[in-house]
Amino acid sequence: MSQPLQFLLGAAEMPTHWYNLLADFPEPLPPPLHPGTREPVTPDLMTAIFPENLVAQEMSGERSIEIPPEVRDVYALYRPTPLLRAVRLEKALKTPAHIYYKYEGVSPAGSHKPNTAIPQAYYNKVAGTKRLATETGAGQWGSSLAMACSVFGLECTVYMVKVSFHQKPYRKLLMQAYGATVHASPSEHTEFGRKMLAADPKSNGSLGLAISEAIEDTVKTPGTKYALGSVLNHVCLHQSIIGQESIRQMEMAGEEPDVILGCAGGGSNFAGLTFPFVRRKLVEKKKYRIVAVEPSSCPSLTKGELKYDFGDVAETTPLLKMYTLGHTFMPPSIHAGGLRYHGMAPMVSHCLKLGLIEAVAYPQLKVFEAGVLFARTEGLLPAPESSHAIAAVVDEAIRCREEGRTRVILFNLSGNGLLDLAAYETYLGGHMKDVGNGA
Ligand SMILES: *Cc1c(COP(=O)(O)O)cnc(C)c1O
Repeated sequence: MSQPLQFLLGAAEMPTHWYNLLADFPEPLPPPLHPGTREPVTPDLMTAIFPENLVAQEMSGERSIEIPPEVRDVYALYRPTPLLRAVRLEKALKTPAHIYYKYEGVSPAGSHKPNTAIPQAYYNKVAGTKRLATETGAGQWGSSLAMACSVFGLECTVYMVKVSFHQKPYRKLLMQAYGATVHASPSEHTEFGRKMLAADPKSNGSLGLAISEAIEDTVKTPGTKYALGSVLNHVCLHQSIIGQESIRQMEMAGEEPDVILGCAGGGSNFAGLTFPFVRRKLVEKKKYRIVAVEPSSCPSLTKGELKYDFGDVAETTPLLKMYTLGHTFMPPSIHAGGLRYHGMAPMVSHCLKLGLIEAVAYPQLKVFEAGVLFARTEGLLPAPESSHAIAAVVDEAIRCREEGRTRVILFNLSGNGLLDLAAYETYLGGHMKDVGNGA
């Protein structure tokens, strides 16, 4: 074999600290606001739904935060994750570009989401929480949290968007296998759910609605806290382990990336890969181009407005300064369920506003075309969410060919597609359509 394809870190080389980009922003991040007073929220408002230790982390400006040994022990089930060079994809595209990907699909739940589910369950356990409530769209977050709760001995209740509950039974079964209770949302278990069902008994639900149900459940059930799988600062913090490992692995490969890409729904896997590189851009004056790739049917970064908005439909969350399509926006049902959120992480939004990153949007047919090309050249079937990044990588590699330039491209392969085969069935059967953006 002429060149190494895999760049692996040993167990002892797993990062011991998370990296917090809040410490290095040239302008401070606008704080979350109380919806009534429009004053910055105080920790006590957040401790109604989150444990104090995670609220402290959410608001921390510390650059480097130690990963508790108990969390590192569970990370060790699948971390450090591999970084690979996609030479067969390069060949198929006849591109002089070098394409590298960080593969987060090796986790037990098949995506990057356990990187934050595990510490969130751990900090709740330490704080005395007995039960976590959350929402999930297609089920990637629900199954990650269910796994983490089972490891730390917490109960877990998941409000799953009803259309996915019925159409995508496998992740529901995975959550149940981990011992979680799963309700189709809107449900009869909350006042807000009952109100929604009374207004529309056939409601398919939405992520924003399921968040409202999970928050209501949390405030009304003693011993219960809420957990969110993306968007918030502490989630971006936990995901930073992806980029920190990648920096070391690119050094092993002897290359420095020119372009770094990730798909973006709420922004957490993108933040995870790119924030340690954003730090180098700010502190070491590196010249990376960093690109977030979103679906053109839910284009918060490319078509949304940067403003304070709610995280949920019932308007129960604090107001977050983010690129948003509006909290009542109902995204069309595309096959990358994990990218159907109306807003974008405030930290990712701030990066775009400061010109540290760029954003592009892709329609789903191009995304699946790229995903299938990746599977047929590299052997690995990507999650439809991750295929958004691949579609942009393919275009970048083709530009390199046309311009006769070698560039080093690095992207995050956020998850595998083995529980998304129904979406591939639609695509391969020729039934997939591009859905217009509702922005
Ligand atoms: C949930 C999910 C996403 C989108 O969430 P982010 O917070 O934007 O990372 C992307 N890829 C996979 C595989 C997912 O499960």
